[in-house]
Amino acid sequence: MSPFPKSTVLGYPRIGPRRELKRALESYWDGRSSRAELDRVGAGIRERTWRRLAELGLEGLPSNTFSLYDQVLDTAVLLGAVPERYRAAEDPYFAMARGTEGLAPLRMTKWFDTNYHYIVPEIGLDSAFKLDAGKPLGEVRQARALGYETRPVVVGPVTFLLLASALDRLDDVLPCYEELLALLAAEGVEWVQLDEPALVQDRTAEELAAVRTAYERLGSVGSRPGLFVASYFGELGEALPVLAATPVEAIGVDLVRGGVPVADLTGKTVVAGVVSGRDVWRTSPERALAKLGAIEADRVTVSTSCSLLHVPYDVEAEPDLDPALRSRLAFAEQKVAEVVALAAAGFLEAPLDEPSAPLAGPVVVEGRGPYAVRAAAQAGHLRLPPLPITTIGSFPQTGELRAARAAVAAGTLTQEEYERRVEAEIERVIRVQERLGLDVLVHGEPERNDMVQYFAEHLHGFAVTRNGWVQSYGSRCTRPPILHGDVRRPEPITVRWATYAQSLTDKPVKGMLTGPVTIVAWSFVRDDLPLRDVVFQVAEAIGDEVRDLEAAGVSIIQVDEPALRELLPLRRAAQEEYLEWAVAAYRRATSGASDRTQIHTHLCYSDADQILAAIDGLDADVTTIESARSGARILGAVGSFGRGLGPGVYDIHSPRVPSAEEVEELLRRTLRALPVERVWVNPDCGLKTRTYEQVEAALANVAAATRKLRAELQA
Ligand code: GLN
Ligand code: ZN
Repeated sequence: MSPFPKSTVLGYPRIGPRRELKRALESYWDGRSSRAELDRVGAGIRERTWRRLAELGLEGLPSNTFSLYDQVLDTAVLLGAVPERYRAAEDPYFAMARGTEGLAPLRMTKWFDTNYHYIVPEIGLDSAFKLDAGKPLGEVRQARALGYETRPVVVGPVTFLLLASALDRLDDVLPCYEELLALLAAEGVEWVQLDEPALVQDRTAEELAAVRTAYERLGSVGSRPGLFVASYFGELGEALPVLAATPVEAIGVDLVRGGVPVADLTGKTVVAGVVSGRDVWRTSPERALAKLGAIEADRVTVSTSCSLLHVPYDVEAEPDLDPALRSRLAFAEQKVAEVVALAAAGFLEAPLDEPSAPLAGPVVVEGRGPYAVRAAAQAGHLRLPPLPITTIGSFPQTGELRAARAAVAAGTLTQEEYERRVEAEIERVIRVQERLGLDVLVHGEPERNDMVQYFAEHLHGFAVTRNGWVQSYGSRCTRPPILHGDVRRPEPITVRWATYAQSLTDKPVKGMLTGPVTIVAWSFVRDDLPLRDVVFQVAEAIGDEVRDLEAAGVSIIQVDEPALRELLPLRRAAQEEYLEWAVAAYRRATSGASDRTQIHTHLCYSDADQILAAIDGLDADVTTIESARSGARILGAVGSFGRGLGPGVYDIHSPRVPSAEEVEELLRRTLRALPVERVWVNPDCGLKTRTYEQVEAALANVAAATRKLRAELQA
């Protein structure tokens, strides 16, 4: 076995520098191109990646980090874990990922605390495992034909099974991994990378025993490549000594989020993740070299803290960014160069910026009055019927409006003309809601490209990129804004649209804001201030907006926090502190509102169990939350809040229009669990991905069911 290379990365973006894979996938899905065409594009992206990494001087090139959809799904296919019902599909891989006419796709969920979503493997009692190593072998061979020796990357057995809630099947999957190792050895592969990010979470003794079993067994395979077990997104903690006691030759540690390992690592290579794969900043060479110098192991390799999948390709593709900001940025290409430079220890760069001072003083949250007082003050002037009907904020985003925004950017449409079109759309949304008989209206958010980017574009301290795409799932990418300086709101952002909408109707129109945690969660943030301070700066700016909306006569304001759970630390010990300041930041943003102003919030997930106390702590007058798909469970849980609650009665994630009977049934169920004065009627989430046809039909049924129940209440 040759020594582990001196420099490497754990993975690389794969959507293509100009999102070539996205276009190829969508063209294939639409039947506009063949599978062979798609595979050619994939091969081209892989080739470009290896060539680029080698040109930059990286020694250890990974392979099998490319994916047509998702690396966890690839691992399921590798292990033969393809549920029976997909096998007959024309293309089983994409059938699992996206569904077909008659088949629902597999479930998708967030990859640890990132914004990347993976396909959850489905492993039943009768699932049989059978190795299909075509993909990793194919990539190794493709690279070799180009002159590159690579290290295939595969999700490790413990993480794979934990993600599938099937760790009890360890004995059944290990033979596949053993066979894979033997095949790779026969192919002449020197090292294999097994990703085990699940080991940075709290693990039970039983789970740690599974780690021991797995790596002892894989370590004892007669002829095999060197075993590199990569952890990331946090510290290995109690899993480190367990791994260290197995025959694996190399262990990857995240030294951006975690400390220098203290376990006895004699005989091991430590692959030190000192260049962050989770942010967009240049690495401080002093800090990185200090960490590298502190590691006591037989060998140290310089690496990234995780795959570079989570950052955009190249700062050079951002000519519009302010040069001062640009010089502080590192995307994937630049991070590879940093790894190489650190490995050569000849790392030179401009001195670090002085970090700005943290916010002074303790956080003071002026309180609003108690709920009962607020509810009385609001009831007096809002005069809402029982079971008030509202929506979550957005209405269908039309292609015309998106095209109009692009035309403004291209200079072919004036700002005035664009604003006239936004106003026309707002008027249409208001009329639709009036016609349907909704009670608390929204303006529909037609001016927003995205609920975070829109605010980032209007706040100081944020930059938006032109090509900074990051894969979210499948062919879907987002362009997270870059929060790089102190946040300030130069002028009101939403007041103009909210007051315009209110001028069109006598019904109350909700002002619509994105909460501070969500803005930060869906951006790249500065790393020279604690996250908490960054969130409070944003909270301050949103608080200014709340006060201005109120002063402009807006009587209901919704502050969305769909990402509240996303920033939850992976280890339980750190969760409570996070939730405490996240809730305090939300209250800082909303507490400037008077008792007469009704504050709404919205969260998009049904499995809120982990953060229920925090949702309660937001102290919003009305909380709207997903529930159409999760049944009564959520009602019991959030029902105890004692404030307004709108469990969604229309699942907007499906194009299906629910019947009035279905909605009625859901409402009856809600009314069995909650006192009628606290119940609101609303969809699950924003309507922007649906069509007007679907939305109008569904909301008409929602209104019909509500009217029926109101009539019964009056009888
Ligand atoms: N107000 C936003 C909308 O309706 C909320 C979106 C969300 O919950 N993710 O689009
Ligand atoms: Zn939502």
